[in-house]
Amino acid sequence: MTKMFPEIPMTAEIKAFLLSIGTADVEDENMVMPTLKSTAGPSAGSAGSVFIASGGKRVRLNLDKKSPIKIRKTAEADEIAVYYSEKLIVTGMIEPALAHCPEQAYINLSEKCIFDCKYCSVPILQGRTKTKEETLEIIQNAFDKGNVKAISITSGVENTPEGELERVLNLMPELKKYNVPVGISIYAAPGGARKLKEAGASEVKYNIEVADSEIFKKVCPGLSQANVFIELEDAVHFFGRGKVFSNVIVGLGETDENVEQVIEKLAEIGVIACIRPIYENALRKGECDMERPSEARLLKLYEMQKRISKKYDLHPEKAETMCSLCSGCDMVPGKDD
Ligand code: SF4
Repeated sequence: MTKMFPEIPMTAEIKAFLLSIGTADVEDENMVMPTLKSTAGPSAGSAGSVFIASGGKRVRLNLDKKSPIKIRKTAEADEIAVYYSEKLIVTGMIEPALAHCPEQAYINLSEKCIFDCKYCSVPILQGRTKTKEETLEIIQNAFDKGNVKAISITSGVENTPEGELERVLNLMPELKKYNVPVGISIYAAPGGARKLKEAGASEVKYNIEVADSEIFKKVCPGLSQANVFIELEDAVHFFGRGKVFSNVIVGLGETDENVEQVIEKLAEIGVIACIRPIYENALRKGECDMERPSEARLLKLYEMQKRISKKYDLHPEKAETMCSLCSGCDMVPGKDD
């Protein structure tokens, strides 16, 4: 039967455009499965999000009634149409999140942080820390709901980075029975990589956060990029090249050259960068530069990352856990081509 609606698959350009806006409004809230509010990282506390799958790609957009991106139903079962200023730009499906994102049980253990990165809601919101029992219940619920490809664990810092490492190590034996790769993204603690590897983790992520070291000093007081680099090198030693990741936030006032240098510096030691566009955080307005990158900038940085990944034989598309597996928030070389 001929389809009533033209199919427009997502391209890299369309995904970069959607990411540059970062938000969407759904015509009917029932279209979105109950999505968990973000409790981790810069966008913690946001009103929830929607995942759109199209053309083999995925994008995550924060729900916002005022967004210029409108998601509407079509006559086709499950198909949605995405409009910008009443112009149809892409068609696809809404993907349900299992726990935080599709296909993964991705859990934030501690919604508190002792640090005060100026773009992040977590230090303002100071949420709660999940008990081990709660965490295991969320993971089990995700497995009951659907096909979970990975378990990923992140955490703020309730008391100390070492304390978060212990919290994760205490959880790891319970995760073995699920027989899926486990990714860990916590604040780097000395000697943590070896312990995480021995406990059965498949991949780790320690975030370098900012591409410009001077901006880093201002927006992440009390943190040390030099220490994160030391722990990243240690993690590559235990997990191998391409099994270690690091978020680099863009839109904090850094230049494209800064981003290129940091992607290359990470790639040299075998670490894959996740280039994460900043959301202007209403709770931190005026505390630092926060400008959502344009479509053109995201595509330029994407081309840079593709070139550098190829040069160092790194394959973000082969990630087994966390954000490079999900790809909702970032352009991922090998997945978004
Ligand atoms: S890319 Fe990462 S932060 Fe974004 S939705 Fe996916 S798992 Fe969550």
